[in-house]
Amino acid sequence: MTPTREGSFRLFRFAGIDVYLHWSWFLVAWISIQNRSHEYSSMAWNIAEYLALFVTVLMHEFGHSLACRQVGGRADQIVLWPLGGVAYVAAPPRPGANLWSIAAGPLVNVVLLPVFYVLASVAAGQGWERSAPDAYGFLWAMVYLNAGLLMFNLLPIYPLDGGQILRSLLWFVVGPAKSLLASTFIGFAGVAGLVALAIYNRSIWMGVMSGFILLNCRQGWLQARAMMRLAKIPRRDGYACPACGTAPIIGPIWTCATCGGTSDAFATHGTCATCMSVAATTPCPDCGESSPLLAWAKRRG
Ligand SMILES: [Zn+2]
Ligand SMILES: [Zn+2]
Ligand SMILES: [Zn+2]
Repeated sequence: MTPTREGSFRLFRFAGIDVYLHWSWFLVAWISIQNRSHEYSSMAWNIAEYLALFVTVLMHEFGHSLACRQVGGRADQIVLWPLGGVAYVAAPPRPGANLWSIAAGPLVNVVLLPVFYVLASVAAGQGWERSAPDAYGFLWAMVYLNAGLLMFNLLPIYPLDGGQILRSLLWFVVGPAKSLLASTFIGFAGVAGLVALAIYNRSIWMGVMSGFILLNCRQGWLQARAMMRLAKIPRRDGYACPACGTAPIIGPIWTCATCGGTSDAFATHGTCATCMSVAATTPCPDCGESSPLLAWAKRRG
C-alpha cells in the first residue's frame, strides 16, 4: 500500500525521474502550517520551513533513486505525500545492490545534518538569535529535521530504510527469502512499539504512520512466505535466470500471452503447448525479470 500516481500530479522531471505530488499533501500542509504559526514572526517562514521539509525528503528519495540506477536497477518515479516520499525503485536482485540503493537515502541526511549544524552554529556566533531570529530558528529547525528524519528512517522496522538495510545485510548470510522473513518479523515487533508510542503520545500522525508501516510490513512478510514456498519446488538443470542466477522451477506456470494457456516454458523451449506461439522472453518466477530463453541457457563446459 503506497501512494500511486492516481490523485497526484507531476511536478517536474529530473534525471529521467518524474516527481509527483499527491493532492492530500496540500491538506496536511495547510493544517501543519497553521499549527506551527507561533514558531516564526511571519507566515512566510512557516511555509518556507514546511517546504524545506519536503525538499529534504525529496533529496532523500533522489538518493535512493540515483543509487538504484547506479547499480543497474530501475527508478523512474517519486511520489510525495503527507507521510513523506516514496521512491519507486527496483534494484537488481543482489544484496549489495539492494543495500546501496537503500543506504543512499539516509546518507543524504548524514551529509545535510553537519552542513546545517555548522551554519546554525556560525549564525549563533554572529548573534542571529537577536538580529535575525527567524533565519536563526529556521537553521536550527533544519538541523532537527535532518536528525529526526535520519533517526526515524534508520529504525529497524521493515519497510523503513533501517529495516531494509537489515534485510540486505541478512541477505548476504541467509538469502533473499529468509532475510525478508526475519526482517518483517522484527518489523512487526517494531510496529507494536510505534503503536504503543502513538497511543501514549495521543498522536494521530504516528498512528497513521504505524498503520501504513504495518500494511507494508505485512505485504513483505507475505512476499517472504511466497518466496519460501517457491524455494521448495524442484528446479530444472541447464538454465539459470540471467538477472538473479536462480534455476527455473519445474511446472506449467508460464502463461501464454496469445491464448492464455499455461505450459512449462523450459520443457517446451518457450513454445506454448496449446497454440504453439513462441514467447520472445520468459519471466523469472523468483525475481520477475523477463529474459529471452537463450539468455537463460547455461553455457556448457
Ligand atoms: Zn528512505
Ligand atoms: Zn531471476
Ligand atoms: Zn498459447
